[in-house]
Amino acid sequence: MHYISTRGRAGAADFEGALLAGLASDGGLYMPASWPALSAAEARRIGEQPYAEAAASVLSLFTGEAFERRALGAMTAAAYAGFDDPAVAPLRQVGDEDYILELFHGPTLAFKDFAMQILGRMFDAALARRNETLTIIVATSGDTGSAAIEALKACARVNIVVLHPEGRVSEVQRRMMTSVIAPNVMNIAVDGSFDDCQAIVKQLFADDAFAGAVRLGGVNSINWARLAAQTVYYFTAWARIAEGAENISFVVPTGNFGDVFAGYAAKRMGLPVAMLGVAANANDILHRAISTGDYSPRGVQPTASPSMDIQVASNFERLLFEAKTRDHEALRVTMEGLARDRAIEIDNATLSAIREDFVSAAVSDKDALAEIARHEKATGDLIDPHTAVARVAAIRLRAAGAMSGKVVSLSTAHPAKFPEAVAQATGRAPVLPERYADLFDRPEEMRRAPASAEAVKTMVCDLYAENAS
Ligand SMILES: *Cc1c(COP(=O)(O)O)cnc(C)c1O
Repeated sequence: MHYISTRGRAGAADFEGALLAGLASDGGLYMPASWPALSAAEARRIGEQPYAEAAASVLSLFTGEAFERRALGAMTAAAYAGFDDPAVAPLRQVGDEDYILELFHGPTLAFKDFAMQILGRMFDAALARRNETLTIIVATSGDTGSAAIEALKACARVNIVVLHPEGRVSEVQRRMMTSVIAPNVMNIAVDGSFDDCQAIVKQLFADDAFAGAVRLGGVNSINWARLAAQTVYYFTAWARIAEGAENISFVVPTGNFGDVFAGYAAKRMGLPVAMLGVAANANDILHRAISTGDYSPRGVQPTASPSMDIQVASNFERLLFEAKTRDHEALRVTMEGLARDRAIEIDNATLSAIREDFVSAAVSDKDALAEIARHEKATGDLIDPHTAVARVAAIRLRAAGAMSGKVVSLSTAHPAKFPEAVAQATGRAPVLPERYADLFDRPEEMRRAPASAEAVKTMVCDLYAENAS
C-alpha cells in the first residue's frame, strides 16, 4: 500500500512516510493509492471482532510493511486497554431505529483518543527504528490537544507543541492540556481562532528550513493514520446492528471533516453504509457546501460545541479529490481558487458525486441545548453539546426523508467536558470520571502568543533546543 498526495506533485510515500510527514510536501493530503476492497461478509467479520482486534484487522489493510499484523495487534491492545468501557465504543439504542455510538471512554473523554492512542505508539516504534526524533505541532479546537499530549507525553523521541485559541476552549478542555507538565510538552494559547492556529501550523510546515531544523511532524486529522484508525468504529457499530437491517446511516458532528471522512473511507472499503450525515453547528460552511455548493469560509462564530467551531475544514480536500474522480489537476485548480478567492463554487458534477454519500444539517445552539434537555427527560442520560448537534441533525434528516432505516449518531465527547452547556440545558451538572476528580486543583503551565507564525516559531525553537541538549 502506498500513499499519494491529493495535489499530485509530491512523490508517493509508504505508510510510515505518510505517518511521519502528516502533510505532503506539495501542500496536499495523503490518500491511499487505492482503497482496500472488502466484501460485505468480510467487513462484517472484521466488525464482529473485539474492538482492539477489529482495529488491528482494519489497520493492517493500510500499514503495508510498516507494521506487521502481530505488532499491530499488540499496539491496538495497549491503545484501547485504557478505555473505561469493555466494549471500547459501546452502542446504545435510544429509539426504535436510533442509536448513539459512545466514543468518549478514552483517557481524555473525546473520540480523538481512538486515533491518538494508536498514533503515539506508531510514532514510538517508527522513530526508534529510524533513530530519529520529531517535533509534533498541532492546532486544537479543544480535544485534539489533550488527546495528543496524553498519547505522546511519554514518548522520549517526541516534542509536542499544542496551539489552542485562547479563551475559546472549555475550562475542562484547557486544563486537560495545560495540567500535563512534562519537559517535552508545550501548550501555547494563541490570541485568535482555531482557524488562526491551523493557519500558523500550515505556515510552519511550509517553512522548509524551520521544519527540517526541528524535524516537524503533524498529528492533526490531516494525518492519514488518524483517519485509518477512526474507520474502525464504523465497522464495529455497523456489525452490531446489521442483522435484518436494510439501511444503516451515520450522523457525525463535524468540524475538520476528519471523522465523517473516516466513515466515507469505511464505505469505500466495502462497508455497506447508506448515507453519511454531516452535522454542523452555526459554523455551517460544510452544510452550505453540501446543500448548495457554496464553500465559502465566514468568520468563526463561538458556539456551545467549540470543537466544531471551524470554517476551513482541511479534510474536505480529500472528499473533493474523490468526487473529482482523483483528478489531481482539477483538484489543484480548485484549491488554488480557494486560496485566491477565499471561496469555492462547487461544480455540479462534483456536487452530485458528493451527494451520493453525504447529506447535511446545521444546528443552532438553542436547538442543541433543547435536545440535551429532551434527551435527559426521555432517557435520564446526559449528552454533550456535540452529540446533541448530531442527534438534532439525525432527527431532522430522518423527518426530511434524507435518511431511513437505522441511524447511528456519533457521540464524540463526554458531557462533563462541557459542564456549563449541559447544566444550562438540564439543571444537572455532569460529573467527571474519577480519574479527573482533582483536575481543577492541578497546576497549569502554558505560554501565550499573538496569532503570528514567527512568535510560535521562536517558542518551538526554544523547546527543541532545551530538549536537544
Ligand atoms: C474534533 C471533534 C469534532 C469534529 O471532528 P472532525 O473530525 O474535526 O470533523 C466533533 N466533536 C468533538 C467532541 C470533537 O472533539
